[in-house]
Amino acid sequence: MARNIRMLQKSKVEPCPKCGNNLLFNILSEQVAEDSCDVWAECAVCGYDPTSGKEGHRLESVWGGTDDNNCIWAVECWNEEIREDAKTIPQENSTQAE
Ligand SMILES: [Zn+2]
Repeated sequence: MARNIRMLQKSKVEPCPKCGNNLLFNILSEQVAEDSCDVWAECAVCGYDPTSGKEGHRLESVWGGTDDNNCIWAVECWNEEIREDAKTIPQENSTQAE
């Protein structure tokens, strides 16, 4: 049960680290336990999923599904993951204060 969404141009979504897309996403929902579903977003262009292989990084929903609310949350999770991943990439000439 995947839903294809297109973000508004003005929306602030972190670009996909693989292809730079920040407008087209697939929202997916999968039942992982009797009363729990995971909902997450993946890049609709290259299929990149920043939560892949990570426990507890996806939105947990009792009913799952890809209604508007869950789509918004899934994109929020995407943003968080991309920002987290960006932190772990060593940057040259980093001027970040300790
Ligand atoms: Zn991508």
